[in-house]
Amino acid sequence: MLILGTGIAGLRSAIEVLKASNEKLSVGVISKVHLMRSHSVAPEGGAAAVLSENDSFEQHAYDTIKGSDFLADQDVVEEFVRRCPEEILQLEHWGCPWSRNEDGSIALRLFGAHEVPRTVFAEDRTGHFLMRTLYDTLLRYQNFERYDEFFAVSLVVEEGRFSGLLALKRKDTSPVFFKARAIILATGGLGRLWEFTTNAHTTTGDGFAMAFKAGIPLKDMEFIQWLPTCMVPHGIPATEALRGHGAILLNSEGERFMKRYAPEKMDLAARDIISRAIMQEIMEGRGWKSHGNMDSVLLDARPVGEEKLLTIYRTFVENARDFIGIDPLTELVPVRPAAHFSMGGIDVDIGMKTEVMGVFAAGEVACASIDGANRLGSNSLPMCLVTGAIAGRSAVSYAIRKKESVKVSKKRIFEEVDSIEKIIGKRGDFGVYSLIKRLQRTMEKNVHVFREEKGLLEALKTIRQLKEDYLNVGLSDSSRAFNVELIHLLELGFMLDVAEVIVTSALMRRESRGAHYRLDFPYRDDNKWLRHTIARCRNGGVEISYKPVRITKWKPEERRY
Ligand SMILES: Cc1cc2nc3c(=O)[nH]c(=O)nc-3n(C[C@H](O)[C@H](O)[C@H](O)COP(=O)(O)OP(=O)(O)OC[C@H]3O[C@@H](n4cnc5c(N)ncnc54)[C@H](O)[C@@H]3O)c2cc1C
Repeated sequence: MLILGTGIAGLRSAIEVLKASNEKLSVGVISKVHLMRSHSVAPEGGAAAVLSENDSFEQHAYDTIKGSDFLADQDVVEEFVRRCPEEILQLEHWGCPWSRNEDGSIALRLFGAHEVPRTVFAEDRTGHFLMRTLYDTLLRYQNFERYDEFFAVSLVVEEGRFSGLLALKRKDTSPVFFKARAIILATGGLGRLWEFTTNAHTTTGDGFAMAFKAGIPLKDMEFIQWLPTCMVPHGIPATEALRGHGAILLNSEGERFMKRYAPEKMDLAARDIISRAIMQEIMEGRGWKSHGNMDSVLLDARPVGEEKLLTIYRTFVENARDFIGIDPLTELVPVRPAAHFSMGGIDVDIGMKTEVMGVFAAGEVACASIDGANRLGSNSLPMCLVTGAIAGRSAVSYAIRKKESVKVSKKRIFEEVDSIEKIIGKRGDFGVYSLIKRLQRTMEKNVHVFREEKGLLEALKTIRQLKEDYLNVGLSDSSRAFNVELIHLLELGFMLDVAEVIVTSALMRRESRGAHYRLDFPYRDDNKWLRHTIARCRNGGVEISYKPVRITKWKPEERRY
């Protein structure tokens, strides 16, 4: 069994596979970087779960569905919220040091668009402690092998079934073929398609593209989340939890502008609404010119108080002081929305199974449709845990049933290896990094918080041109040891495929819903568009179809905060 990705979703899956199979199945865990450098170490904010008497599964489900602008599949959300608390308590038993109240109970804090405080956290290093706890737990098992710094290139599917994974060992660029009965894709997000992002450099959408190329559909890819409050010019987040503890947003006139966009929830409205409000303020001339000449609004964190800022928000304070030279204890912090999270992903059912037998997905790369058109803050970490556990169990029951393996066509693998070999040291008219910049710039300009047909068409044209230019890229590094330029080129190939899917899906959805806001179609249209976008790879292009949203008890209504 293979697990591709060692973030929170991948590690949680690996533990579940080993536990559920009683270690009868051997597991290979693969990561393109060192296991603990997976992007999941970054989150400061926390993980949502119903853990207090004032809360209920109904309420968490409703908040999530309302947040999703009614695009989430409601049966999946109901299952998700029921499983969150058991995952949080399981992590506690495995040793995760959740922050505590004075009486020793697990502390909960308020996040945007959640009706009650339900976000657990481990100081301001939640992701780091989750990763450590999962890694320590994995080490209690024997039957697994780590493949750190192996870069996966493609999924091999024969006769509609998964047969193996082609990867490159980064140390010497040698090809490795992993033959396996099943794989769980846990490759994380795609924020690096944009210039201004909260995501790590490794977050280049590889898993989305590999699945797409292997014939697995991608779902709802037009829905990208912008995190409203990211410090300019680098995109480091000022966690939403700060606003739960009293921080406020101001425009250049010193006005609390959120009162005009979300009169009740104000700075704690859903992320899509705050991101649009910030961009609107900037567009109407009430922004603040700041570092790198970027437009921003201002975050006043002083109401949070010095004690909290210097303890549970220490990372935020240090980042603001060290990276932009601003002290949030006394000064206002310039922030604007940055590309943050993919609501869409590999189309999976409630058991995290894809259309191709033997391929499962979990975490941010998977779309079981919990987030719909907009994710609530602190729902992703529990989603990674819950979907990781479910994918692990589903994959075990599949692998135990399907003992015989599929015949692998060696010719196809040799051809792919050969094409990579030919790139090393190749001369060409374009450099990798100029192409990456061109892609990021067009995404930033045309596929952002506000979109319209003209800009989306421009982006599509640029992406198709970049795909042609890609064939004529030269590499200045011809060495085989850690050839970073080659890896970036392969990542760019993935990014271009995913960008084409995102833009095509966005062009076709002629309405505004959640994070997908079309200036030329500014209203939600449930009659025509209460449906999921499905993108398939056909003849090298993108074919779009739709499937219904599953509603259990919450009828779509106008969303107000
Ligand atoms: C700055 C920041 C703060 C956040 N804070 C919160 C928060 O407080 N609460 C919350 O709920 N959510 C938060 N999120 C979202 C959440 O952190 C992510 O959605 C989640 O960590 C994704 O985890 P994952 O396991 O799916 O993927 P990742 O942790 O991104 O792991 C992906 C793995 O796949 C591997 N991989 C990818 N491509 C390849 C390839 N080609 N070959 C080999 N390996 C590959 C990588 O090496 C890595 O091991 C935050 C996100 C960011 C960016």
